[in-house]
Amino acid sequence: MNDSDATSILVVSAHPDDESLGAGGTIATHTAEGIPVDVFCLTSNNVRKVELDAACKELGVRKVYTENRGDFAIDLELRQEVVDVILETRPTIIITHSTEDYNVNHVVCSELVDQAVEWASHSTIFDNAHRVGRIYHMEINSLQSRPHIMVDISSTYETALSALKKHNSQLQKADGFYVNFYDARTRLRGVQGACERAEAFTIRIPFHAGPFYPENSVRTLL
Ligand SMILES: [Zn+2]
Repeated sequence: MNDSDATSILVVSAHPDDESLGAGGTIATHTAEGIPVDVFCLTSNNVRKVELDAACKELGVRKVYTENRGDFAIDLELRQEVVDVILETRPTIIITHSTEDYNVNHVVCSELVDQAVEWASHSTIFDNAHRVGRIYHMEINSLQSRPHIMVDISSTYETALSALKKHNSQLQKADGFYVNFYDARTRLRGVQGACERAEAFTIRIPFHAGPFYPENSVRTLL
């Protein structure tokens, strides 16, 4: 990361509504503290783009990036698009899906982020290479078995819920499932985190396995 890169967060999600369901409270908490949050959603269409923009506005998101493609049209070919957004937004951390998710599109999105973070960091490839510090895996409709942290969203839950409800086309599908699940999941994680409501994440350290980084040289392990 260049010294000139300000602290910011990038959320890379598979579908419009994942940003609100998985990390809505966390996004709102950070934007309320003045930390810029951008969202890159890998799929969208005319209806869902309008809903996504409205939800992101509610959450205080700085910029929304989307690919205009169907819900299931996510594959590793999208790596360069993720790299481009990383190099433009230069995030300190990325929030994305968990590989424990039962939705295969979410799993592919998570793998795409891993690959894009690695590729974007190669200063031998890009003059404006950027090194992301950490990746956080969020929960959607699958619970992660061993999350590392609970982010206290007690004060931003209502904002996140309001953002989630902007995704009208999805809410009608599942007979209240999404809102009910978000309610129950954030309460459960709140109990675990000793607060009213929380969103859970696992933390992933990017590979950065190449031989190009002085940051990878250490004298001791402590
Ligand atoms: Zn999704």
